[in-house]
Amino acid sequence: MLLGRVSQAFNSVFRRSIHQSRRLNQAMGIDGNNILAESLKKQGIEYVFGIVGIPVIETSMAFQSVGIKYIGMRNEQAACYAAQAIGYLTGKPGVCLAVSGPGLLHCIGGMANAQVNCWPLLMLAGSCPEDHEGIGGFQEWLQVESSRLYCKYAARPPSPRLIPLHVEKAVRYASAGRPGAAYLDLPATLLTGEVDEDKVPLDFYNAGPPSLAYPNPALVDRAAELLAKAERPLIIVGKGAAYGHAEDAIRKLVDNTRVPFLPTPMGKGVVPDSSEYCVSTARTQALLKADVVVLLGARLNWMLHFGQPPRFAPDVKIVQVDISPEEFHNSVKSEVAVHSDIKPFVEALTDRLAQKKFAVSTNNAWWKGLKEKQKKNTEFVESQANDTSLPLNYYAVFKTVQANIPADSIIVSEGANTMDIGRGMLSNNLPRHRLDAGTFGTMGVGPGFAVAAALWCRDHAPGKRVICVEGDSAFGFSGMEIETMFRYNLPVIIIIVNNNGIYNGLDAETMASLREAGDPATCSPPTSLSTEVRYEKMMELFGASGHLCRTVDEIQAAVKASLAVTDRPSIINILISPQANRKPQTFNWLTESKL
Ligand code: ADP
Ligand code: MG
Repeated sequence: MLLGRVSQAFNSVFRRSIHQSRRLNQAMGIDGNNILAESLKKQGIEYVFGIVGIPVIETSMAFQSVGIKYIGMRNEQAACYAAQAIGYLTGKPGVCLAVSGPGLLHCIGGMANAQVNCWPLLMLAGSCPEDHEGIGGFQEWLQVESSRLYCKYAARPPSPRLIPLHVEKAVRYASAGRPGAAYLDLPATLLTGEVDEDKVPLDFYNAGPPSLAYPNPALVDRAAELLAKAERPLIIVGKGAAYGHAEDAIRKLVDNTRVPFLPTPMGKGVVPDSSEYCVSTARTQALLKADVVVLLGARLNWMLHFGQPPRFAPDVKIVQVDISPEEFHNSVKSEVAVHSDIKPFVEALTDRLAQKKFAVSTNNAWWKGLKEKQKKNTEFVESQANDTSLPLNYYAVFKTVQANIPADSIIVSEGANTMDIGRGMLSNNLPRHRLDAGTFGTMGVGPGFAVAAALWCRDHAPGKRVICVEGDSAFGFSGMEIETMFRYNLPVIIIIVNNNGIYNGLDAETMASLREAGDPATCSPPTSLSTEVRYEKMMELFGASGHLCRTVDEIQAAVKASLAVTDRPSIINILISPQANRKPQTFNWLTESKL
């Protein structure tokens, strides 16, 4: 109660002072901070994540004064991850705000992650006053140059008057075509510089979302002909399809044609994992044997084994659909390459295939082979999952988690085994409901992504939960964001699958004896972390308590109790066998091409 009143009082004083300063500025003109805030608002920006300091404190307040939500985080990298995740979830760039020098440099990994994942992000950083440049200014750094490699567009608006045009351009670059990162550099002198408000194009246009790219009908025909002749067709659904909101179209294509489909990790949920046409449990076989692959918004990079033998048939024919024609024929030549948004292409293809009365029989040899494989693989996983001997293995943990979380939860996940095994065991039946380490394989993204997802739920899907499934090593990268989750009352459920290390760890006794053998810097295995770390006790920093689990029953109880908490995060720390592993794989996960 008391706290509520104090914060209300603070809020009103704080807002009054912003408005007063705005009014004062208006009398003389408008400064860069307020021009920037108005420009972002005009471009429809809803969320800014960041860490403030000189020279962007007033900037963040100016954002709030126009109704933009500002979320202060604990590490700039995590802020940058949160901003790009909100970009992926909303289709509008999320903004990350950082201070000069080290602040911006801490965001470089985040910008690269957004570029590699093709997610829209607008990075903003303060920089040293222009009249201190070259003479050793505070946190002086070549920020535009440093950002250029990690962005589609990087610039410094040359005057306050040009800020609206630069913001529009940066938002356009981040969102148009293949989405990615854009950077605007904001010297202190630009932010505080004042100009006559009449001379600033504050009402500069907002182009709205990029217009859809439609496919060339002749290419749709060729794709339909190829599919109609295929003996072993396969659809691969990537995160481009998720980003492009192609779910209704692809569901109809799959249901009408009964072509088996495979989602990529973040393509999961575009068509529900529960669909009878999903062949994730026979992934290796499906990739290896397919004679025609329709690739919808995914790249033939390491995640799809470059589209090459030994993981794909040497004569496989690929129908590649992408918003970015630069991607065509990368690593293998596609038979048909269609420059199009996924949605209109799939709608046109479905119509064309219906005219041809094309549908696959689920009793043909292709489907029979896949189903056999699915049965065999599922049996193996089930046997592991039903083995509840202690310490637990991954499969038993994930089976229990899956059985106890709401089916429509957003799953955020990172870690090595934790992410890989969890991808198979935790279902997604809705699009854009899985956020993970992605194409760049970045560790440390989880808590930032979870902050963004929880905000998105609060504003767009109240009641929906975010389950953040972390390896113990992965959690360590950005674990302090738990404080951010507390501050903004975000009910993220963090589940730490704790095996005392990276990939694998050691049990307490072995670890102790190794450490006693000599200097831990030379004796402690680089993949090992401290054993049985009580991560759940981080909750006590905030006057709450977490959950330590060793058994299936404890996990069940902890998930239930955490679901009942709706105004703060929860931590469930699950101690598993440090030697627990994945099921044996036919191929090494990074099998190289033999071409
Ligand atoms: P995944 O991780 O699922 O394999 P990738 O990130 O490799 O996916 O590939 C996503 C692809 O989707 C990129 O090549 C990108 O250009 C493309 N893409 C993004 N949005 C769209 C869209 N709306 N329509 C078509 N392709 C898209
Ligand atoms: Mg681990």
